[in-house]
Amino acid sequence: MSAHHLMPTYQPLPLMFSHGRGTRLWDTAGREYLDALAGVAVTSVGHSHPDVVAAIAEQAGLLLHTSNLYAIDWQQRLGAKLAEKSGLALAFFNNSGAEANETALKLARLHGHSRGIAKPLVVVMDNAFHGRTLATLAASDGAHLSAGLGQLPGDCIKIRFGDLDALANVTQAFGQRIAAVLLEPIQGESGVHVASTAYLRALREHCDNHGWLLMLDEIQTGIGRTGQWFAYQHAGIQPDVVTLAKALGNGIPIGACLASTTVGRLFTPGSHGSTFGGNPLACRVGCTVLDIIEREQLLENATRQGHALLGRLRSEVGSLPAVKAVRGMGLMIGVELDRPCRELMQRAAQEHGLLINVTRGTTIRLLPPLTLDDAEVQRIVGTIRALLQAL
Ligand SMILES: *Cc1c(COP(=O)(O)O)cnc(C)c1O
Repeated sequence: MSAHHLMPTYQPLPLMFSHGRGTRLWDTAGREYLDALAGVAVTSVGHSHPDVVAAIAEQAGLLLHTSNLYAIDWQQRLGAKLAEKSGLALAFFNNSGAEANETALKLARLHGHSRGIAKPLVVVMDNAFHGRTLATLAASDGAHLSAGLGQLPGDCIKIRFGDLDALANVTQAFGQRIAAVLLEPIQGESGVHVASTAYLRALREHCDNHGWLLMLDEIQTGIGRTGQWFAYQHAGIQPDVVTLAKALGNGIPIGACLASTTVGRLFTPGSHGSTFGGNPLACRVGCTVLDIIEREQLLENATRQGHALLGRLRSEVGSLPAVKAVRGMGLMIGVELDRPCRELMQRAAQEHGLLINVTRGTTIRLLPPLTLDDAEVQRIVGTIRALLQAL
C-alpha cells in the first residue's frame, strides 16, 4: 500500500496501527505503544471500549440512518444528557468540530441581526484554532492555516488572548457591531494556553453588559478532558453557546453546538441542517461515552492523574535546560521547549513506544485517555525526561 492516491495534506509518521485496547495501540508489526495523544483528544474512554463496541454493533444491526425528516430517539436522549451537564437546553448535532463552530457562527449572526446590527462582528483570539472550513479559518489565527486561500469571511476581529485592555479597545472601536465573543477556554493547537478564571469571568460580565453572546469552543477541552465535563465549569461561569466534537464520539464522527433556549431558538425550521448530523449511531455512541465517563468516574480520574502528571512534569522535567514552561489542566498538558522539537514524536514512538504530539513546532502536547493509571503517568514522565535529557 502507499499514499500515492491521497492529497498531500498530512505528513504521517512511518507508523501504522492495526488495533487498540484501552490506553494501548499495536502497530502492524505487533509492537505495543502507550497512547498519550488519544487521536488528538478523541479516544478519551480508551480504544475499543467494550461498551462502545457493543453500542456500535447493536445499533448497526438495528438502524444507522433515517435522516432528520423523522424524529431520532438517540438524538433526543443525547440532547437531554448534554443539557443536564452543560446547563444549555438546546443542541444541534453536526459531524465535526468545524461544523459545530460554523453553527455557532451562524447563531452569532442571527443574534446580531435580532439586535438590529446589519453586519455583526465576532471577537476572536490570537492563536485561536476553530477548524478548517473557510468561516472557522477566519475565526482562527495563523497565516500557515489559510495560506493561498485568499479572502475569508470578514466578520471576525482578533484580540490578544487573556488581555482585558484589548477587549476594552475593541469594544470602544467596534462595540455597536459586535454580537459575540468566541474562544477556547484552553487554546490547544497553539500550545496549551489556559485562560484564567478571572479572564473568563470578566468576559462573561462584559458580554452580559453589552448583550454579546459568550461562545466557548470546547471541542478539545470538553467531555471530561480537564476533569470537569466542560472547562468553563472550573471558572463557575455559564456560556451562551458551547461547541463540542472530538471526545463526544470516542472516534465515531460527531459534533454538537449547545445553546441556551433563547439563542438556540434563533434557528427556525429549515434555517440549518445536516444530512448525517445527529444520526442514531453517532448519538447512541455519544450517550454511551457519557455513561462510561460517569460509571468509571473518569472526571475524578482525569483530575487526579492530571494533577499527578502536571506536578511530576513540573518537578522532574520543568527545570531541564530546554524547558520553557509546563502548563495545562487535567489531562491536557503542554511542555514548551526553547527549540523546535517535532522529531520527538518519532523518537518517543521508536525508542520508547510512547505516542505524543508536538504542536506549533516547540510544544510537546499530552492528551492521554481519561483512564490513565499511576504507572502510565510514571512512564510518560520518565520517557519525556529521557527524551529531553538526550536533546
Ligand atoms: C480539533 C478542533 C477543532 C476542529 O475540529 P474538526 O473536527 O477537525 O473540524 C476546532 N476547535 C478546536 C478547539 C479543536 O481542537
